[in-house]
Amino acid sequence: MRAVRLTQVGKPLEEAEVDRPEIGASDVLIRVAASGICHSDEHYRAGISRIDRLPVTLGHEIAGWIEKVGGDIKHVTRGDRVCVHYLAHCGSCEFCVRGLEQFCRTGEMIGKHRDGGYAEFIKVPGRNAFVLPDEIPFEIGAIMMCSSATALHALKKARLKPGESIAIFGFGGLGFSALQLARAFDCDQIYVVEINPAKLASAKMLGASPIDATKGNPVEQIAQATNGKGVDVSLELIGSAKTMQQAVQCLGALGRAALVGLTAESMSIFPYGELVNKEVEIIGVSDHLAAELPTLIEFARSGKLRFPSDALRFVDLDAQQINASLNAFQNSIDHIRTVIRVASDG
Ligand SMILES: [Zn+2]
Ligand SMILES: [Zn+2]
Repeated sequence: MRAVRLTQVGKPLEEAEVDRPEIGASDVLIRVAASGICHSDEHYRAGISRIDRLPVTLGHEIAGWIEKVGGDIKHVTRGDRVCVHYLAHCGSCEFCVRGLEQFCRTGEMIGKHRDGGYAEFIKVPGRNAFVLPDEIPFEIGAIMMCSSATALHALKKARLKPGESIAIFGFGGLGFSALQLARAFDCDQIYVVEINPAKLASAKMLGASPIDATKGNPVEQIAQATNGKGVDVSLELIGSAKTMQQAVQCLGALGRAALVGLTAESMSIFPYGELVNKEVEIIGVSDHLAAELPTLIEFARSGKLRFPSDALRFVDLDAQQINASLNAFQNSIDHIRTVIRVASDG
């Protein structure tokens, strides 16, 4: 079968002819229909995020048809449409049995630690395959398994409740999903903090109150918009110490700040005024859980989570086209997601 692989860090991905994977009793073989090209893939290629075993087929945002089913797998059968949870985990360690597989010590990221979806077929543990309803196109089924799933996990970790207000710092792929999912949770006011005018306009179109951080301190702007009360929940999706601090400072009493962005910087908080006195919580968020995916799939099926068709671009399973899409991440500022269309019929 054809696959597009990372063979050397810092070099373009290469096309290769590899054997179709053999599956074990607990695996499924999926014929890939669509595979999302993610910013993390660019980091793998560039060596910003380290990969020890090469070559590897990249791609962790995957949807397709079940081609073959191992003897132990009962929830899917040949021909089923599925999407893939990207962490292959042991299923039996102290974390996995509690449904916290993100901490599994032998967990392997698909498309990083083991072969991913930039290929005609992929083998995954059967428990990683989730049935994809007919209403959800493969390309959406693929891309929602990464940033949308993490946005949902962040809202769950922050315990966003109906009627609460939320401030979203950063309106990229995660923010785009977080806004829609916050609405699906029946939250009240949504504030989106950004510096990019196009993103602020797009947040406003989706019903949020835009907070332009170039026009003054967003904490003060949010305080003013909420009559001094502050918000119940904030999500930091940018990964800078400054916006993390603002995400804490904009909270009202009993507020929860969920920090998703990555940074090596330290942030400082004034304990009494900003944390203790208001009983505010700062919550770390990493990845997402398999148990959350049925909720996400249902939001997409019912149209509560959407991706406008003009936000998607398509390429073939072709190294040159995929490398060009990865290059584009270096200066991308919009919501456009590129999806590899690997196959288009059942
Ligand atoms: Zn991704
Ligand atoms: Zn485990």
